[in-house]
Amino acid sequence: MARVRLENVSKHFDDVTAVDDLSIEIEDGEFVSFVGPSGCGKSTTMETVAGLTKPSEGTVYIGDNEVTNLAPKDRGVSMVFQNIALFPHMDVFENISFGLRLRKYDDEEVQRRVERAAEIVQLEGMLDRMPNELSGGQQQRVAIARAIVRNPDVFLMDEPLANLDAKLRVTMRTELQRLHRELEQTIIYVTHDQAEAMTMSNRIAVLDKGELQQIAAPLVCYNEPANLFVAGFIGSPSMNLIEGELVEEGLRTKNFTVEFDPAGVPDVRVGDSVTIGVRPEDLHLATDADSLGPIACRIDATADVIEPMGDETFVYLLLAEDVERTMDRDEQSTPDQLLMSVDAVTDIEAGRDVEIVFDAPAVHLFDTESGEALVHGIEDLVTDEETGRPTSPEQ
Ligand code: ATP
Repeated sequence: MARVRLENVSKHFDDVTAVDDLSIEIEDGEFVSFVGPSGCGKSTTMETVAGLTKPSEGTVYIGDNEVTNLAPKDRGVSMVFQNIALFPHMDVFENISFGLRLRKYDDEEVQRRVERAAEIVQLEGMLDRMPNELSGGQQQRVAIARAIVRNPDVFLMDEPLANLDAKLRVTMRTELQRLHRELEQTIIYVTHDQAEAMTMSNRIAVLDKGELQQIAAPLVCYNEPANLFVAGFIGSPSMNLIEGELVEEGLRTKNFTVEFDPAGVPDVRVGDSVTIGVRPEDLHLATDADSLGPIACRIDATADVIEPMGDETFVYLLLAEDVERTMDRDEQSTPDQLLMSVDAVTDIEAGRDVEIVFDAPAVHLFDTESGEALVHGIEDLVTDEETGRPTSPEQ
């Protein structure tokens, strides 16, 4: 086990900056996932830890040692990649033990380590099978066992489940969590699949264009995204993000106004451009308002398209007449459209006019220009109509 620390790491390829001044500290035994869109620098960052890429600037530490210029084999890391690459002419035992044989471990030690690793990844009884007699998931487990037998200080996994079908990925997700619990080893995991990152990691590091946007526990990234990029990237379907202007009575967008005290929002003032974020599951029919916290806003909309997903239903809402829906589930909303997620069984029909609401705790505000989050939840800024006092329960 070991701590991993990157200090001001950058990597340039000619005029492309793949990693931009990245500083990050991963605790001993922690499971950290790097997530972000294609090309954001996830793999390059991982490769600087592995020693496959030398950073243009900055320093890499594993444990107490600086390893920036060390060869991969001297870093105490084991890697698992998307492409499994087992030796086709070797059986499972030989594939798992290959690295140990190269390092001249004695037969007894090899046997002991392979059996233990096979037990951890649940491949006992399959050690004499050839790779072509294994399913994709079993092959990936062989690759993981091959990494385990080396007893590394740090596991590096780059999209290890990407080639598996959807059902198997979910199964392997739980297996990797169990593996981490059992081995208590530091794991750095690269994925573009946020469900993997959310479910398995202690913390996730969200990258965009080589820059770290946020590193935090999955639910902190979800509930308190540090900026507009994280707000839009984490969560599927994406958070509704609507630009507006801070005015005396709150935030005015093209189609609705959210009333609150703008003086209570830090770092911005009336006239500034502020974006409101509300997650699809935080939009509700006005008929359900009684079960919510203080209502921040009521909006008249038309249900345009209804998408039943089985466990929930997505409703695409148009806020103005004569607009066409252009968004899809993973795209950001425009001022004229919102995505709402409701229960699987709903009586909302396409073409029907609906009144929707969201409550004050569900509102996120962002500085449109810098993208930085300003507040998560505006219950302290909303005034109760009856008492004239802030509606926050603490007040
Ligand atoms: P993906 O999810 O698509 O694998 P990623 O987040 O892992 O993407 P990287 O592979 O780290 O991204 O690439 C980051 C940027 O660096 C990209 O713009 C990529 O084109 C560039 N890049 C990576 N490796 C090289 C290389 N060897 N030569 C030139 N450019 C490179």
